[in-house]
Amino acid sequence: MAAAGTGTTGPWEAPVRTLLRARPGDSPADVDARATPGFGGRKADAKPALAAAGEELSELQERLFAHGRTGGDRSVLLVLQGLDTAGKGGIVRHVLGMVDPQGVALRAFGVPTPQERAQHFLTRVRAALPAPGRIGVFDRSHYEDVLVPRVQGRLTPAEVDSRYADVTAFETEVAAAGTTVVKVLLWVSRDEQHARLRERLTRPEKHWKYDPQDVDARLQRAAYEEAYTDLLARTSTDAAPWYVVPADRKWYARLAVSALLLEALADLHLGWPEPAYDVAAELARLDASA
Ligand code: AMP
Ligand code: MG
Repeated sequence: MAAAGTGTTGPWEAPVRTLLRARPGDSPADVDARATPGFGGRKADAKPALAAAGEELSELQERLFAHGRTGGDRSVLLVLQGLDTAGKGGIVRHVLGMVDPQGVALRAFGVPTPQERAQHFLTRVRAALPAPGRIGVFDRSHYEDVLVPRVQGRLTPAEVDSRYADVTAFETEVAAAGTTVVKVLLWVSRDEQHARLRERLTRPEKHWKYDPQDVDARLQRAAYEEAYTDLLARTSTDAAPWYVVPADRKWYARLAVSALLLEALADLHLGWPEPAYDVAAELARLDASA
């Protein structure tokens, strides 16, 4: 396993940001959602690998937090997108759940309220950006503001262009201000989505997760695939790249996202901040107070 902060690849054949980075022309429809790119192991191997990643993640997150508390301007923003049941909640629970909750700022975006609709679509997103030192997580995001109305036929092509221009300008500005933006598209296959939705309907403890609109969106899968293909082509920039994560195997998706976060944090090369006081003098003062 890699040492904290070295940016090496741990159990991976190559950096995950290289393996999973969306390339222009990529369509998620071509992704094998059951694949496990770059990870030679099986489910049983994923458990210790995730725990090890969690330890590293935890240390790097603490360094980021310390950096923020001492005037630093860096932060990380994980944007999670995916069709219903892709596993966004599981990423939050099992990956972000491995680090100190004080350092994580989670925001889930639902259908905009009438007040939100009256504002520019990026206003609510801007208000949810992580403060310095934090890992921000968006469970859905400003991308829903293009995907949903587009698939529902409520945006003209010119309005789509205009929204994407706003999105890329916004993300470039966010990145320049010190936030590493990591955008993850969790990709679940049609069959696996069917099985997961079925489970939500057949297990009473999962009924609360089901929304009748999930089937409506499922029936529009081809339109979502097309919209996502265009989204990847237009918004995967160097300032804010997209990663397409095969998500039929939850253990793989969780491991891959933990690695993407780890790589983003390691790239910041954060040490522990220098104290703003004289350590030796304070030690002497403390001991004299005993
Ligand atoms: P969930 O993430 O399953 O809790 O569901 C949230 C729902 O809100 C999904 O159906 C999203 O597509 C929808 N949603 C989120 N943001 C927007 C948006 N900007 N415009 C339209 N629908 C949205
Ligand atoms: Mg849902």
